[in-house]
Amino acid sequence: MRPIELKNRHKEILEIVKKYQPIASEQIAQHLKLTRSAIRADLNLLVMSGHLEARPKVGYCVVESSTRERVADYLKNIRVNDLKSRPVVVDEKASVYDTIVTMFLEDVGMICVTAEDYLVGVVSRKDLLKAAIGRTDINNMPVGMIMTRMPNVILISPNAPVSEAARKIIDRQIDALPVVEEHMIQGQTRYKVIGRISKTNITKLFVEMINPMVGGL
Ligand code: ADP
Repeated sequence: MRPIELKNRHKEILEIVKKYQPIASEQIAQHLKLTRSAIRADLNLLVMSGHLEARPKVGYCVVESSTRERVADYLKNIRVNDLKSRPVVVDEKASVYDTIVTMFLEDVGMICVTAEDYLVGVVSRKDLLKAAIGRTDINNMPVGMIMTRMPNVILISPNAPVSEAARKIIDRQIDALPVVEEHMIQGQTRYKVIGRISKTNITKLFVEMINPMVGGL
């Protein structure tokens, strides 16, 4: 029942109750230098939203948030920037062969493709496999010919919450997203690749939450 936006007054009331609980509305009002009737609506809202419990003849007490809510609050504050890995990038003119070598050496499943340092596409394992098993000469085929190209690339900003990245990965059934910064170049939006966020990064967060390591997140 909790998703309401708390105003400063509500937060003050919660602080007072936390400190002096159980506490009657009269005393809460005194702490705030207000009348009881002035805070009645606020107290009702805090009870309705599940933040406070009103015990008859005892007073108000804080309802501690559930474990699920605490986990959700923790996750909401983690940004893509906190989790991202460094990007693996090739130029659109690089050959499919060289891109396969890069994928092996860097041990990633998705490579960003750029032209003049701005994102123009991505390639995955399957894109490269498809090209490799065809009859084409992958030494002479530029990766730009087989990539998934802009504007079809699903991107994420470094400031986005990590849950948004997870949602995009699941909804689009892909493994990773380029983490990008927007630049306006001659009236056009271009994207500079500053990282990569994959299923692996998000799984690592899960492991880290269960088994925190010193110097981890
Ligand atoms: P795999 O090839 O290992 O199955 P994916 O599931 O990530 O890897 O890729 C499936 C397809 O989606 C490929 O054609 C790839 O180019 C494309 N793709 C991968 N990542 C993205 C992305 N962030 N945005 C748009 N398309 C993507």
